[in-house]
Amino acid sequence: MKRIGVFTSGGDAPGMNAAIRAVVRTGTAQGLEVVGIRRGYQGMIDGDFIELGPRDVANTLQRGGTVLLTARSKEFMTPEGRAKAAQNLRDAGIGGVVCIGGDGSYRGALKLVEEHHIPIVGAPGTIDNDLYGTDYTIGFDTAVNTALDAIDRIRDTAASHERVFFIEVMGRHAGFIALEVGIAGGAEVIVLPEDPTSAHACAQVIEASASKGKKSSIVVVAEGGYEGGAEALARDVKLCSGIEGRVTVLGHIQRGGSPTAIDRVLASRLGAACVDALLAGASGVAIGEVNDEIRLTPFKEAVEKRKDINRRKYELAKTLAL
Ligand code: ADP
Repeated sequence: MKRIGVFTSGGDAPGMNAAIRAVVRTGTAQGLEVVGIRRGYQGMIDGDFIELGPRDVANTLQRGGTVLLTARSKEFMTPEGRAKAAQNLRDAGIGGVVCIGGDGSYRGALKLVEEHHIPIVGAPGTIDNDLYGTDYTIGFDTAVNTALDAIDRIRDTAASHERVFFIEVMGRHAGFIALEVGIAGGAEVIVLPEDPTSAHACAQVIEASASKGKKSSIVVVAEGGYEGGAEALARDVKLCSGIEGRVTVLGHIQRGGSPTAIDRVLASRLGAACVDALLAGASGVAIGEVNDEIRLTPFKEAVEKRKDINRRKYELAKTLAL
């Protein structure tokens, strides 16, 4: 293998640039040429490739988003689109590829491996932390800290006005962000897809908090935790209990910003491990970090198995909300 490609795909996440940088510099150090594929799978189909040397990734470590850009590609969902992408990779002499993205990107990579036998390894780039085979994904820690900062500010207003706030955080079908910021932000209630709750039960906890002398409450709602999100939960809580709450949906601010040290180090390590894995002949695997060790998980397993939240942390959150 003389030349490898690297691309980012799906939702952007802080730390993706640190991963690209690690791929470029580790690859170069190992005597490889590194090609950046812009706009994910769409760029692979369009042949949107750029040569990347160590200086081209200077000053990217601290930047949010992805310098290679990212996109969602409908064309890649078709066999014809994937055949075009594979041909472009071959024509460019690319003998192995690093995919930085979430589960959708891994599904696409798996198809390219199976249908066209292109060696591909993946690094988990998503704020949601919802990928099996790694304790944490690149971008999760930054998103948690961004959401926490917002919650701390809202807590000031909630306390000053003695109000209930419903704060919706991202996470798609998983509650990792909600659980982490719920504990770190001292939420009275955390609503997770992994443990669906009713508006009635939520209202009961808020009422119990009030009866114990709490004058304000923060309810952290994972976006997949309640049908219709925080807005719907606040409405239903009001309907069943009369409790009036304000709603804040944090939204895309959680996806941007300079990555934390934890995300930069994780991305650096995983990016480098991707190059090592390709050189060792690996393909069709996701690279993760489990208990501080690099772990390889087949794409199929990474997308099909579900990583559960830490139930002990969830119980702790409830105890500490007393
Ligand atoms: P993420 O990687 O963040 O989960 P998406 O789910 O949007 O993001 O996936 C990114 C891209 O991966 C899609 O736009 C599509 O091009 C490709 N992809 C996703 N799922 C598949 C699939 N089942 N088969 C082929 N390509 C896929």
